[in-house]
Amino acid sequence: MTDPVSALREIHSRIEIAAKAANRDPTSITLVAVSKTYGEDLILPVIDSGQRVFGENRVQEAKTKWPPIQARVPDLKLHLIGPMQSNKVKDAVELFDAIHTVDRPKIAEALAAEIKKQGRSPQLFVQVNTGEEPQKSGIPPQMTASFVNVCRNKLDLPITGLMCIPPVDEEAALHFGLLAKLAAESGLPGLSMGMSDDFETAIALGATHIRVGSAIFGARIG
Ligand SMILES: *Cc1c(COP(=O)(O)O)cnc(C)c1O
Repeated sequence: MTDPVSALREIHSRIEIAAKAANRDPTSITLVAVSKTYGEDLILPVIDSGQRVFGENRVQEAKTKWPPIQARVPDLKLHLIGPMQSNKVKDAVELFDAIHTVDRPKIAEALAAEIKKQGRSPQLFVQVNTGEEPQKSGIPPQMTASFVNVCRNKLDLPITGLMCIPPVDEEAALHFGLLAKLAAESGLPGLSMGMSDDFETAIALGATHIRVGSAIFGARIG
């Protein structure tokens, strides 16, 4: 296996090529290094090489793993990319700089209350279930505009953009295109889309945040 630091360098050059091909500024694309399941042995060298934005999918795992690292490296940014239970909203608002998984009214309401209470406001993305898969969380595409409106106008939650995870067996480009269209309809600048296998396609279709794990850190075990 390539070491994570070399792999990260390779990802950066692929981002640059994909951005140039799409006539986009590579610095307009945030690489979220998805560190879920990986330990400090792999994460610390990546931090030392300059990476500052990391993604975790579980609040509990992030809460034990990151505060000791943050104490040493204060300018790290943590992004939550996994679904959240209501009882984890307080911890999530405390810990994360961005939450990509605002996926139902109950969570939006809990976030609004907690953000008001803490006076701390992470960037928020609404997760859209673009493939309308029953097992996957997210707002159905046809309800996205009204959900974003409720967040903005009723809950006073500033929404940065939309996020999706395409179905594994479908052309990712169709889902990225749909997400871009929905974001434009709601006047949202942020697009969190693209993972290890398809981030270049996502960049071509306007991704502002790509979430890349295994292509940097290697295959996840379990
Ligand atoms: C794990 C995960 C990723 C990263 O996936 P890779 O294929 O390892 O790049 C991206 N987004 C979400 C929501 C994830 O859960």
